[in-house]
Amino acid sequence: MEAAFNALESKVADFETLRPRLVGDIPLETFLDFLQRQEAIYTLASHIRSFSSLSFSADTQNQAVQTFIGRVDQTMARINNRLLFFELWWKALEDAPANRLLSGAGDYRYWLEAMRLFKPHTLSEAEEKIVNLKNVTGAHALNQIYTTITNRYAFNLSVNGEAKKLTRGELMVYARHHDAALRAAAYQELYRVYGEDGNLLGQIYQTMVRDWHNEQVELRRFPNPISARNLDNDIPDEVVTTLLEVCRKNAGLFQRYFRLKARWLGLGRLRRYDIYAPVAKSEKLFGFNAAAGMVLDSFKQFDPQVADLAQRVLDRQHLDSEVRAGKRSGAFCASVAPSITPWVHINYQGQADDVATMAHELGHAIHSMLAAGHGLFTFHSSLPLAETASTFGEMMLIDRLLAEEGDEAVRRDLYFKQMDDAYATILRQSYFALFERQAHEMVQQGASVNELATAYTDNLKEQFGEAMEVSDEFRWEWVSIPHIYHTPFYVYAYAFGQLLVFSLYQQFKAEGDRFKPRYLKILAAGGSASPESILTQAGIDIRLAEFWQGGFDVIRGLVDQLERIPIQYG
Ligand SMILES: [Zn+2]
Repeated sequence: MEAAFNALESKVADFETLRPRLVGDIPLETFLDFLQRQEAIYTLASHIRSFSSLSFSADTQNQAVQTFIGRVDQTMARINNRLLFFELWWKALEDAPANRLLSGAGDYRYWLEAMRLFKPHTLSEAEEKIVNLKNVTGAHALNQIYTTITNRYAFNLSVNGEAKKLTRGELMVYARHHDAALRAAAYQELYRVYGEDGNLLGQIYQTMVRDWHNEQVELRRFPNPISARNLDNDIPDEVVTTLLEVCRKNAGLFQRYFRLKARWLGLGRLRRYDIYAPVAKSEKLFGFNAAAGMVLDSFKQFDPQVADLAQRVLDRQHLDSEVRAGKRSGAFCASVAPSITPWVHINYQGQADDVATMAHELGHAIHSMLAAGHGLFTFHSSLPLAETASTFGEMMLIDRLLAEEGDEAVRRDLYFKQMDDAYATILRQSYFALFERQAHEMVQQGASVNELATAYTDNLKEQFGEAMEVSDEFRWEWVSIPHIYHTPFYVYAYAFGQLLVFSLYQQFKAEGDRFKPRYLKILAAGGSASPESILTQAGIDIRLAEFWQGGFDVIRGLVDQLERIPIQYG
């Protein structure tokens, strides 16, 4: 590791000495040399950083690893600052020389283009410096205060007669509890605490929204507040408008699901408290080897090449499935560099959910291995496409299980898991984005915190219709969503990704084998082009409402399936 740190230092120092060569008429070969050197630096940095973060995930209680992470973070921040001059130069370069270099940049091209997309919205150096400086004590500081205030909250809940003091994370475990009264009490306590500070948190939100408008719309000249985020994702404004419109039109589909879930829970009408209530779980467990076999089989049925890639992760022992004390919870896939087989981290406990998670994370690994023909800067897919292979992999497995599984309870669990996930990623997130769009407009017109809370209540009413009873304390839910504070309009990307996959899956069902090469091409593109151009090349028009509707048709199919399963009360 010391050798790696030393190598990194000398590569960065070499790079810095080349700075005088960055001029408008820089020869293409010199420019490419800059790019290759940068790629080598970041590849080595990624190895070091991944080693530290994977070591931490394997054992979060290891103090040597904790110290090492601190050292790595500090080193990386310094290196980023030392390399920053290249990006600034590149963004400031005139179009003519930039285009000359872009046409010879090969695989680096989109990475370079994406940086320059922000050119029309970049201010003069002096102005940028003032914005940066004022952000430290302005928006960033306010955000920090929001985080500090809300992370200090303690929640009181009485569980089986025992008074507990809980963090938000601990409290929300009870939102998924089988005891209906406890679910209600958990939510009531959550919004009692947030509601007590509602006026304060709401004022912070108003200020953040005004700051966003001042900077993004007035100074940087984005046509509206959401456009700044859309450019970050490199998705055209019209596409986001269409996506949100289609989500809104399909709220009724989820309302149908909520009515169905109420029947499974033996309730007349679902309360907002019951949205993630568990429907009785099947007892069936899957041993690890059997589960891995099922996942690989389902991939093989789709395409043997895909199954081989997943097999490689297992063969290289890059999948950590064991449940151990100190190991990080949850699941993820780490793609370190194109030349390295990705690392998959899961906590396997044998339930149908865990098998689906294995398929999901191996899907991520497959995506990154298929894109390994690209360099470090272009093999990672952008956010809106990042969940394509993972969700698709999960659906391949579930289809396979549903076709072969005789146990009705397992089938039911899989359908409910898919529907709960679809609600949380598609409808919930798109209604947050719709609220943000409205709130940004209202704040500009001088709306009070109470008026925003009322608008939020109306947003919930539209989302749930008559299918759900929403009690009054949910008017404070919006002040409890950190995303809308620290990264405005981020949330729609979740809906984009999930619907895209459902829509692709629908095409796969309709076209069978003919669909496969197009799908594999999307994955192999990684992040080497904009989401729109990758999807256009695969014959998909994300500007069409019909495309997004195709995703909802898959959800309709899931609800249809669930409605056919005879209800048993747990
Ligand atoms: Zn994922």
